[in-house]
Amino acid sequence: MSKLSEDIVLDAVCALDIPGANGRKVTRDMISGIAFKEVEGGRSVFLSLEVEGKTSTSESLRKAIEKAVSKLDGVVSASVVSTAHKSLPQSALAKVYKIIAVASGKGGVGKSTTAVNLAIAMSINGMKVGLLDADIYGPSIPRLLGIYEKPELDDDGRMIPIERHGIKVMSIGFLVPEDKPVVWRGPMVHGALNKLLHEVAWGELDILIIDLPPGTGDAHLTIIQQASLTGAVIVSTPQDIALIDARKGIAMFDKTNVPVLGVIENMSGFICPHCGERSDIFGAGGAEDEANKIGALFLGSIPLDLAVRESSDSGNPIVISQPDSAQAKIYMDIAERLKLGRIVNRAY
Ligand code: ADP
Repeated sequence: MSKLSEDIVLDAVCALDIPGANGRKVTRDMISGIAFKEVEGGRSVFLSLEVEGKTSTSESLRKAIEKAVSKLDGVVSASVVSTAHKSLPQSALAKVYKIIAVASGKGGVGKSTTAVNLAIAMSINGMKVGLLDADIYGPSIPRLLGIYEKPELDDDGRMIPIERHGIKVMSIGFLVPEDKPVVWRGPMVHGALNKLLHEVAWGELDILIIDLPPGTGDAHLTIIQQASLTGAVIVSTPQDIALIDARKGIAMFDKTNVPVLGVIENMSGFICPHCGERSDIFGAGGAEDEANKIGALFLGSIPLDLAVRESSDSGNPIVISQPDSAQAKIYMDIAERLKLGRIVNRAY
């Protein structure tokens, strides 16, 4: 007769299927306690079972465990106490496979316009894409995508992202009016960004693109700590002053071990819509040189272009409103060059 031990009991219990859980088996961490009591003819076994989910599931599992344990050698009776608790919703980011931040050293360089067009380009390429506007100081995604409704809540109380042009969108701008700038203090920034990351029903996404506020500050550190970023993409205009700020952003990602996946030069040269002549208003090639210096991929240059500005400011990004234009093709190429399939999924 084998000597009854905790391991023998656990082995018997862990071989059992959880009712209605698609073949998932009981795991050791669901058994929070085992006790034995010597009785006439053998031992009584007492187990406490921690199970999430419906009461009916825990009740049938409780009975199945009692039955299995009673059959063991030396067991006279088995009783299971279920300490069932309310099913905890899965982490909102559990099925988000890659998270990429789009960053810039300073405001107004076209970071949000780039983030929006890239997100849509990736969705056109067949990916499931989410876009989070984390620019709490000046959320512009609602305007760039023409979204003026508020998100609804799901049964777990999570905000349901608004779907536009095939992507799931969430912005602090959905929650605070654009004309009422919010003065955020450190802990409030942290709280607001946490809400946007973790209290949103993101569902399954191949990629979540986060449009960061410009610069380097509290918000960036919160996102880096909370979102387990796959990497960052830096947007800069070509002139020196923008590049100096972009360098600070790159240094921040380096220090926090977030890989810089590439650099994009925006507003790179102006093509005159009348004569077709190119003028390098802010210079050209600065961002490419910078990318080369730090060993990051140069992802491409987007010209300063009236159609990009008009389409983006009217809520119809150019990859949607003029998909066959040369400008839309540039965004599509950049999305392709990022080759997200090759970038490893994030660690949880
Ligand atoms: P940021 O997010 O860096 O503050 P935005 O994306 O909001 O910048 O862009 C600032 C302004 O520049 C917007 O009016 C936008 O339409 C315009 N813009 C962005 N990229 C381009 C471009 N390549 N050509 C013309 N206008 C652009």
